[in-house]
Amino acid sequence: MRAITESEIRTSFINCSKGEAKRLGLPRDLAEQPWAELDFLGWQDQGAPGRAYLVTERGDRWAGVALRVTSGGGRGFTARSMCSLCLTTRTGGSVALMTARRTGEAGRQGNTVGQYLCGDLACSLYLRGRKVSAGGRLVEETLTLEEKVARLHANLNAFLDKITE
Ligand SMILES: [Zn+2]
Repeated sequence: MRAITESEIRTSFINCSKGEAKRLGLPRDLAEQPWAELDFLGWQDQGAPGRAYLVTERGDRWAGVALRVTSGGGRGFTARSMCSLCLTTRTGGSVALMTARRTGEAGRQGNTVGQYLCGDLACSLYLRGRKVSAGGRLVEETLTLEEKVARLHANLNAFLDKITE
């Protein structure tokens, strides 16, 4: 993805209020992100436990999604969960159920979309073997990296579609 600035992040959110977007905590190391290896920028809000965010390019626009972490670790230590974006399987709650408020009227009525996602939202780096987490492994498969990246984008777009449809 292209490098994104703080002000671009704050104006990218599709499912939270402008006030919320203005106040949310940004990644501290924004300038040092490995942009060429990121399909989306994802982070947990260090100042607000249980809040996480992801920003990606959609067409020629940025799309930011505010997420609530609704579980993680509650399913027992040995339970394995699979991230719906990068398909990494992990134990010990490091894949978390996150929910996004839907846009428009559905969102005003309190409708949300839930997905299991890597808790640190570093899917792009797991996919490229740049980050390894204890207890985590990618499903054994013969796809090339390009095919896996394309699948991650398709999964992410499907998630965004569910939020905005
Ligand atoms: Zn993931």
